[in-house]
Amino acid sequence: MKEKEATLVLIKPDGLAKSLTGNVLTRLSEAKLEIAASKCLRVSRQLAEEHYKALRDKPFYNELIDYIMGKYHDRKKVMALVYVGPGAILRVRELSGATNPEEADPTTIRGQYGRITTKGVYENVVHASANAQDAEREIKLWFEPGEIIFPLYPTQPIETTVKKRIWS
Ligand code: ADP
Repeated sequence: MKEKEATLVLIKPDGLAKSLTGNVLTRLSEAKLEIAASKCLRVSRQLAEEHYKALRDKPFYNELIDYIMGKYHDRKKVMALVYVGPGAILRVRELSGATNPEEADPTTIRGQYGRITTKGVYENVVHASANAQDAEREIKLWFEPGEIIFPLYPTQPIETTVKKRIWS
């Protein structure tokens, strides 16, 4: 088993709107993994579409993009985390439960807190990377190298002249 296996977790907008952050983090702490990065962010259409690009042809795709962008909730944000440790991907998937919250084991995060809306959206509270390839792609999509507390993947230095905002 890979010692430093990493996985991306998203607490989706329904999780934040229902104040479930604490509950989700408590459940995930059962996996005895390390949090290597975390942040709250509003999800742009570009990020949402890139994250879910494999599902582009699914009938629920448009609603899924609206859901992850927070269009159905007052708190239009997502909490993104990177968990690292032995067997991280499978352990977090197990704690999260099945995709369909009605079919998820009731003791899992999705089974406990998820629902299917009248529009048919699976509001299942969390995203968890499905495999090592997805995890690497997703972590690189959601985080920059400097936002993760230790090096996970190779990086390279570049020179940029980006305008950025600083505290005044
Ligand atoms: P998972 O999130 O368990 O890896 P998928 O990648 O297949 O599952 O789907 C991504 C997300 O799309 C799900 O978490 C859920 O929010 C939504 N979703 C998946 N299948 C359906 C469906 N049949 N109807 C509505 N929403 C769905």
